[in-house]
Formats: sequence, structure tokens, C-alpha cells
Amino acid sequence: MSDILDLTAKQAADAVATGDLDPKDLYEAYRAASAADDLNAYVWVADAAPADGDASGELGGVPLAVKDLFCTEGAPSQAGSKILEDYRPPYTATVVRKLAQAGAPLLGKTNQDEFAMGSSNENSAYGPVLNPWDRTRVPGGSSGGSAAAVAAGYAPWALGTDTGGSIRQPAALCGIVGLKPTYGTVSRYGMIAFASSLDQAGPLTRDVTDSALLYRHMVGRDGRDSTSLEHPEEIVLPSATRLDGITLGVPAELSGEGVEDGVMARFEETLKLAESLGATIRRVPLPHADYGLSAYYVIAPAEASSNLARFDGVRYGARVDADDLLSMYTRTRHDGFGPEVKRRIMLGTYALSSGYYDAYYGRAQRVRTKIAEDFDNAFADVDFVVTPTSPSVAFELGAKTDDPLAMYLNDYFTVPMPLAGIPAISIPNGLSEDLPTGFQLAGPAFSENRIFEAAYALEQAIGFDGSKGRVAA
Ligand code: GLN
Repeated sequence: MSDILDLTAKQAADAVATGDLDPKDLYEAYRAASAADDLNAYVWVADAAPADGDASGELGGVPLAVKDLFCTEGAPSQAGSKILEDYRPPYTATVVRKLAQAGAPLLGKTNQDEFAMGSSNENSAYGPVLNPWDRTRVPGGSSGGSAAAVAAGYAPWALGTDTGGSIRQPAALCGIVGLKPTYGTVSRYGMIAFASSLDQAGPLTRDVTDSALLYRHMVGRDGRDSTSLEHPEEIVLPSATRLDGITLGVPAELSGEGVEDGVMARFEETLKLAESLGATIRRVPLPHADYGLSAYYVIAPAEASSNLARFDGVRYGARVDADDLLSMYTRTRHDGFGPEVKRRIMLGTYALSSGYYDAYYGRAQRVRTKIAEDFDNAFADVDFVVTPTSPSVAFELGAKTDDPLAMYLNDYFTVPMPLAGIPAISIPNGLSEDLPTGFQLAGPAFSENRIFEAAYALEQAIGFDGSKGRVAA
């Protein structure tokens, strides 16, 4: 069994295609490993492979762990919230359905921060997730369960969502690969919404090849999501070993201040490595990136306050009965939402309220435009903008729960890209104090193929060993 779990998703799919591996054995090996999860990475694991699974697709029957906020027909879809406890939707998210059709059957639903609000997975109503590299530490968030499940070897790959960093930051903290695609390339239909102009689904995988393989089957315009669009290129599996002719831009504002020494040291080593592969490194100005966090923490809560208005106890989810309708609404929301979600709803409602709308929301939107322009200007000079993914390695459970601002600072390097709608990947970048660090590459809209190539070349050169995080037996 354990050698099955050592295969990457691509290797497993290849073994199925050549007849060397029975997809039923593959599914059962992962199902058994996931059922023995002792990291709280899952909130639900399937009893058996779905009957309609088709291992003849390119994804070869390689099972998929899915973040709790994707609607999955007949399986719990709770978005980490008590207000959706045991909610089983009558339909399946487009991207989950597409992947099942391509041969990646649902393995389980993974834990997450409530409604994807958080950077540590400690905001889940279903308890925190432990980091498989060190169980006293967080896996990152909000896709913490997906990242931990893949890093631990419970799942060959997983789906997450990224609004301000929720795929890339947990991927970095767990030593795996996470891609936040170009906004719109993956349908949001059936994804329980946090901030609709930012939310984007993407893959969490052991390596860059698996990321490209999964993403290849996620893209496509969907008539049920008016913001979705066709990716202009077919996604191909990467093979580059050199970076000749590629220019990497390091934000001129990145001084290392606020970044842990070990994280900065690994980042600088990888820049040298990139040079040895033929890349040119240049400083690029991103003068408005510093305002990304402030703009994000106005825009995302504003959209959340509107999206979360639908959870009122009337149509689905939890209800706390009361004598009159208004009390029913308020009691349901009082009991159903956790403290971080309430904080965001209040922040967002305030930012959108009459008299403040322009001072907060309007201004944040203008900053957003400036950040997008900064990236446009940067990509006139460089192919990719590169940063550490997260300023720190995985922190101790509880270390930042009492200080929302300290928690928000984690997202410093990851919020500018969703604000600009552009793609970015995090790849494992060696260890600091025995914990994984991440290297982030961001490119222009629709540059995923080029991002995969560059990330693949770096991945081969870095030679990260993820086996220490793998705890599945
Ligand atoms: N950590 C950020 C937040 O709390 C990002 C979350 C996300 O990308 N879903 O909002």
C-alpha cells in the first residue's frame, strides 16, 4: 500500500494507463489513509469510490480531496461553518464535476477556515488542522485541510480556493505546490462565495507537473458563471530545465523587513539558483503593493457582507427558531457564524454604508486599479514577479488567534495578485528551522503555461524533499 501513496498523481495516472495499477486499489489506498487522518485535515471521507467514476480519463482515477466550500451533491458542504452543518447540496460545483469526468473521483472534503476567512485554519467550526511537519503548528489557511492532506500523503492532490492567498500560503507552509489561476479561468459555480471578485479555485499538489495536469482539466468557460472565460491556451505539462532569456522581477520595496531571516535566506539562494539556470534578476517597482493589504481587507469583507446575507435560516442551513422573523434571523446568524466571520461582516457592512462607501470601498477599488497598473508596468520589463510566499514559516497554533492584524500581515505577499486578477504559484523552497518555506512566481493574466515552465525548472534545481511531511501509512 505505502508505495502507492508514494506516487505523484501523474505517476499514479500513468501506472493506471499502462495497466500496472488498478484504480480501485489506488482509490482504496488513499481512502484508507484518509480515514486514518489524525491531523483533522478532513471533515468527511467517502465510504467508497463514487459509482459514476471513470478511470479511463486522463486523470486515471486518481482520487481528489476537495475543500469543504465546493458543493458536492449528497456529501457535506459546510464551508467550515456551523451555519451549514450537515448541509448536503442538491448539485455539484462545475469544477468538481469536470474533474470527476476527467477521472479524478471525490475522496473527501477538507477542513478550512470558516467561509475561507483566515490564514491558519483556526477559524474552522470543525477545529484546527495540524501541520504534518510539526503538529504544534498551523498548516496555513484558509485551504489548510487541503494543503495538510496533500503534504501528509492522505491525498495525491486537492482543490482549494484563493481569495487573498488561501491556496499559496498553506501550500508554502506545508511544503507543496499551490496555484492561484487567472481570475475567471475556473468556474465559480457551486463554490460557496467569500468575495466574488477575488475568489478563484486552484490545485494543491506535490509537484508542478501535477499542478499543470489538474489545472488543465479545471479550466473552461461555464455558462453558469458569468465571470468565467475560456483560457486562450491549452495547458501543457512543463519540461523546461533552464531559464535562459527569462527575467525575474523582485519588488523594489521588498527589503526583507518583516520577513523571517530563514525565509529571506532561502529566497535569495533561489534567486542565485535561477541565475545559474540562465535567468536575469532585476528590481521592479510595485509602488502600490504596500497598500494591497488595506485595500484587500476592505474589499473582501465588503463582498463577504453581501454574499453572507443569504445565510438567514430560511432556505437552508441551520435555523434557530424564535417567535418572530427578525429574531429568527438574528439568532440564527448569532449562533451560526464564528467570531472572524462576524468581524468581517461588520467591517464590510460599515465600509459599504452610506456616507462611508466612497471613503472606504471606493478608495480601496481605486487602489486595486493602481496595483493592477503596477503589475502591468512590471510585466513590460520582466517575465515574472517573485517573492517569498509567506513572510514566516508555519507558526504555533494559537500564536496569532488573539491578534487579527498580525494574522492579516501573513497575506502581505499574496493579496496583490488576486486584486490584479493575475496568476501566481507557490513552490517549496527548502526549509528554515526544519519547516517548509515557499517561493512565489506571479505572471500576467493567462501566463499559466509559462509559470509552470519556470516553476518546473526551479523545482528540479531546488530538489525539495517533501517526504518528511508525509505521515500517511
Ligand atoms: N487570509 C486571507 C483572509 O483571511 C485570505 C483568505 C483567502 O484567500 N480565502 O481573508
